Amino acid sequence: MTTTRHRAAARMIAAIGALSFLAACSGNGGGGGSGGDAGNYPEQNITFVVPFSAGGPTDTVTRMIAEPMAAKLGAKIVVQNVEGAGGTVGAGEVARAEPDGYTVLMHHIGMSTAPALYKNLGYQPLEDFEMVGLVTEVPMTIVARKDFPPATLPDLVNHVKANAGKVTLANAGVGAASHLCGLLFQHAVGVKLQEVPYKGTGPALTDLVGGQVDFMCDQTTNTSGQITAGEIKAYAVTTPERVKSLPDLPTTAEAGLSQLQVSVWHGLYVPADTPQQVVDKLSEALKVALADPAVVDQMAKLGTAPVAAADATPQAHRTHLEEQLGTWAKIIADAGVEAS
Ligand code: ASP
Repeated sequence: MTTTRHRAAARMIAAIGALSFLAACSGNGGGGGSGGDAGNYPEQNITFVVPFSAGGPTDTVTRMIAEPMAAKLGAKIVVQNVEGAGGTVGAGEVARAEPDGYTVLMHHIGMSTAPALYKNLGYQPLEDFEMVGLVTEVPMTIVARKDFPPATLPDLVNHVKANAGKVTLANAGVGAASHLCGLLFQHAVGVKLQEVPYKGTGPALTDLVGGQVDFMCDQTTNTSGQITAGEIKAYAVTTPERVKSLPDLPTTAEAGLSQLQVSVWHGLYVPADTPQQVVDKLSEALKVALADPAVVDQMAKLGTAPVAAADATPQAHRTHLEEQLGTWAKIIADAGVEAS
């Protein structure tokens, strides 16, 4: 039932078609197929799939690295937002794409949480993808509409306990980082809140600024600008250390909620069976992008940093994903959560 098998069947049908075509024209078919020869990769535009809305944090990080990666690869990179179901729609689409390096997925921690949340996910992270490399690890912030009454994180905890039926918590769908962080928050506080799912936290943030929803957790890559501009209220950052670009924001531990610790790692993926030469070229380009001073600077302004070059590799990425799948499966099972 794996997508790898579906894709293998699809490729076999395509290969049969190609063989009859070759027999008919007696032409030379070397290195055929849409992807061409792996040694000449890339020979056409590359699509980077972002499984959340445009303008959100995953989209922001993707667009930051796309330009320097494109320059290194010598091909245009087109960013496409394939939203829905907490990132699982876009991830599924890439799992089923041709393994030729022309469809690349940017995903985050959701790659490691979705298998524990969805009964019928339709793809298996370790089997249906090749890992290209880790990209960055982004702190989350707990933020609220400007006129939301609680002033501090302890106030927020008391407020949601007293108003559990009324308070609304935005997220980007089951499987999103915002969903995970909201889940950890509710678990730590012992409440069940009304969750409002969006296709990404880009639109959720717009609603937060507009006052249509009460609060959410989201990456600093999305919230920093509005926090600094005073358009939203910020309670805490979910990492053990404070974030340099938001120095006044306490950590959850400092604010009395040490159980809520999460940061959102990101990585690039291609479909399983993508030629190693192609994966290596993408990984090399990723390393170059992450060392680009403009990328380092943009990330720093948004509270994050590129991973070390040693982590922007297929092996480091796979090892991290394996570890994270185990970690979150246990936490999610303990919390008793499941996607409907
Ligand atoms: N920050 C989102 C999340 O909760 C994703 C996004 O919109 O980029 O996973």
